[in-house]
Amino acid sequence: MSQTAVYPGSFDPLTKGHLDIIQRACRLFDHVIVAVSNNPGKQATFSVAERIQMVESVIHDLPNADVGTFAGLLVDYLKTKKSRLLIRGLRAVSDMEYEFQMADMNRRLYREVETVFLMPDAQYTYLSSSVVKEVCRRGASVHAFVPPTVARMLRRKFGRKDNNKR
Ligand code: ADP
Repeated sequence: MSQTAVYPGSFDPLTKGHLDIIQRACRLFDHVIVAVSNNPGKQATFSVAERIQMVESVIHDLPNADVGTFAGLLVDYLKTKKSRLLIRGLRAVSDMEYEFQMADMNRRLYREVETVFLMPDAQYTYLSSSVVKEVCRRGASVHAFVPPTVARMLRRKFGRKDNNKR
């Protein structure tokens, strides 16, 4: 039986840490759906369409990866995709409290679901979407932290010239 895993997140914006997790998941599972959350209660910097574009820009060379979007309960989305596997990234111990809480709740809502935690390469341990936005807002280059398409979209969003382009 082929195994579909779902990697949900805000991806606001997608970073190289997210990409590292996507690549690891693609090596482990037959099919990986990167699911962009559409949560009206959580103010995002980038629209769902922009965040989908970010994911698309990095998965074109990963044949078993797809992009999707969901609103509402993640477990309902998993059921529509016939998946029981949830991927989440664990950076440092500080992620654990929140991630375990979510994994426990998802298991209560859908008994068969398994959350698989993947650890990124050490260079991405302290990388987060919010830090990347802050760095870009203050005028620094973000090319080390995000894929090229995302770097361009960040510069556009924060009104910076493309003079840091690599
Ligand atoms: P959410 O709002 O669902 O937490 P995020 O985009 O912030 O969405 O994160 C999605 C998942 O990716 C989470 O499991 C998070 O821990 C993980 N993640 C975020 N940044 C990194 C990173 N630098 N390395 C590995 N995993 C990460």
